[in-house]
Amino acid sequence: MNQQKPSIKQIYLRLRRQQGEQGWWPADSHFEIIVGAVLTQNTAWTNVEKAIQSLKQQNLMTPQAMIACSRPELAKHIRSSGTFNIKAKRLHAISRWYFSHGEFSEISNWPTAKLRRSLLAVHGVGAETADAIILYVFKRPVFVVDAYTKRLFSRLGFVDEDCSYESLRGFFESNLESDAALFGEYHAHIVEHAKHVCKVRPYCERCSLSEYCDFSK
Ligand code: SF4
Repeated sequence: MNQQKPSIKQIYLRLRRQQGEQGWWPADSHFEIIVGAVLTQNTAWTNVEKAIQSLKQQNLMTPQAMIACSRPELAKHIRSSGTFNIKAKRLHAISRWYFSHGEFSEISNWPTAKLRRSLLAVHGVGAETADAIILYVFKRPVFVVDAYTKRLFSRLGFVDEDCSYESLRGFFESNLESDAALFGEYHAHIVEHAKHVCKVRPYCERCSLSEYCDFSK
């Protein structure tokens, strides 16, 4: 490092100063966040936006409407999000889960551990999707990590490139105050920075974190 190693919070403040407030997750309802969390698996958000728009136009953005819609029909409307047959099956599964448990008003009373366990048992919901739902829908302080997080923080020298999802999540949760709003913004900043600056081939010359980073050398 060129300088003394910064804290995780300092990295956040530096990103926020450069990128401004992110305001994630953009959606009109809790259910729309859940749908977005499934649709965004392995695809860019711009593709998800088109699918969400299509679902709304067809009045399918409720769990009841989605459950009632046939899988081929649902797949047709989410075509832009890629792997649409797989995602249609996943949307049916998460819609059934949400509806059968009483939607937000009931599920929001659950303890976080129960919520996470229950979500991870739903078809097609892995750790990242579950944590995104727990954080952005239910506002619980669970840090969402992904490939962007791993890339950025391994380059900055905080974690190993091959660290596990759970160890990376634990790293953030044990080094930050337990605050869902902070976690939500921080994850958004990481994604933004890794998508546009700390890319696979990084633009280090325009990076606000370069003074903390030895990777480019
Ligand atoms: S200096 Fe380069 S490698 Fe380091 S965080 Fe910034 S963009 Fe990524």
